[in-house]
Amino acid sequence: MSETVKYLLDETHIPKYWYNLAADLPAAAPPVLHPGTMQPVGPDDLAPLFPMELIMQEVATEREIPIPEPVREVYRQWRPSPLFRARRLEKVLQTPAKIYYKYEGVSPAGSHKPNTAVPQAFYNKQAGVKRLVTETGAGQWGSSLAFAGALFGLEVKVFMVRVSYNQKPYRRALMETYGASCTPSPSNETQAGKAILAQRAEHPGSLGIAISEAVEIAAQRDDTKYALGSVLNHVLLHQTVVGQEAMAQMDMAGDYPDVIVGCTGGGSNFAGIVFPFLGAQLRGGKKVRIVAVEPAACPSLTRGQYAYDFGDTAHLTPLTKMHTLGSTFTPPGFHAGGLRYHGMAPLVSHIKQLGLIEAVAYHQTTCFDAGVMFARAEGILPAPEANHAVKGAIDEALKCKAEGKSRTILFNLCGHGHFDMQAYIDYFGGKLQDLEYDEAELAMALAGLPSVKAA
Ligand SMILES: *Cc1c(COP(=O)(O)O)cnc(C)c1O
Repeated sequence: MSETVKYLLDETHIPKYWYNLAADLPAAAPPVLHPGTMQPVGPDDLAPLFPMELIMQEVATEREIPIPEPVREVYRQWRPSPLFRARRLEKVLQTPAKIYYKYEGVSPAGSHKPNTAVPQAFYNKQAGVKRLVTETGAGQWGSSLAFAGALFGLEVKVFMVRVSYNQKPYRRALMETYGASCTPSPSNETQAGKAILAQRAEHPGSLGIAISEAVEIAAQRDDTKYALGSVLNHVLLHQTVVGQEAMAQMDMAGDYPDVIVGCTGGGSNFAGIVFPFLGAQLRGGKKVRIVAVEPAACPSLTRGQYAYDFGDTAHLTPLTKMHTLGSTFTPPGFHAGGLRYHGMAPLVSHIKQLGLIEAVAYHQTTCFDAGVMFARAEGILPAPEANHAVKGAIDEALKCKAEGKSRTILFNLCGHGHFDMQAYIDYFGGKLQDLEYDEAELAMALAGLPSVKAA
């Protein structure tokens, strides 16, 4: 068999609907609560931040949500994305396992994020919105929304976590190329940012803080809405094009995964590849082991509490039940900036709680070891975030080797690392450290969780 094994679908296979896991879950996820009343939020509570179409998707229960034709039209630029069999990596590992990966780095921004940036920009434009404000960690989301904003004629303003802003100047340049503006967070442009800077002038920032700044700005003007690149149900929903295509491609390969691996920051690329397979399982299909891989320095699924918490540091958002490290927790400045979020998507947290998925945490050096091994075998250089999925998949393949068993492993290679070369330079220079989070800070952040009576 040839060493390059690629499964390509033609454009007619771009999914016509997004798959909604809520339709197949044995129990509904706990409701989102208003922090003032502690009652479930209604669509009107969210209307200052999001257009109604997205709010309705957030609470939708039907299984299939049609993808508007203008969105499919943009998807055609890079979708369906390729699925590869990692035969060279299998050889290097001398594993009996079969390893497949879905490659989302082929999008214009280089990751899975445009899958949701495009529909979010589309629905906002349709609702008459002029300007979108958002946050970004590593810059993947900021550049994806900047790209989508450029296509649909929307102004885009991005608050970028300061540590990443300094580490990744080319991501900022990409956002500016697409016409967006990019401000390091915490900033002096918002009350939330000023309050943080008053406590600590050199604050490295966090996604929680950047979200507060973006939400604060979005709430001030009628022509401005907020956009989030992960965590929320509608974002996870949009990413299901990944898993739907992967199902068709595994079918082409005459195979089906025994194990699916994805990295988890807020949970969206993981949900994208996993939910369609999990839905099939819940409807009586084959059972699949599902592994979420997170950074040991920001381990919400493996070390967090499953509790109601705010999505941001300044407590401007509603309360969602999720695995959380506490909304005031600031993770150390490791390189996978897209995985530095204190919480996990409520839907991903819920299926973890239901025992439908597993989670593991790895330090960054071992993930870069895996990413470099992958690049040398397969030629694609993964984003630092994606290295966590690569590491998870390699570990599963090595388990197969130790047990002398062949299993089919599928993982999501959610983005390339072409804008993350400083991280690789640091890795090769021996400067990459396995940062430990501050246990005392975690304890304090968890002690500060809002008290919500069990419903
Ligand atoms: C944003 C990002 C992540 C983390 O976000 P999820 O919502 O967990 O997917 C992971 N990988 C890449 C390449 C990203 O851009």
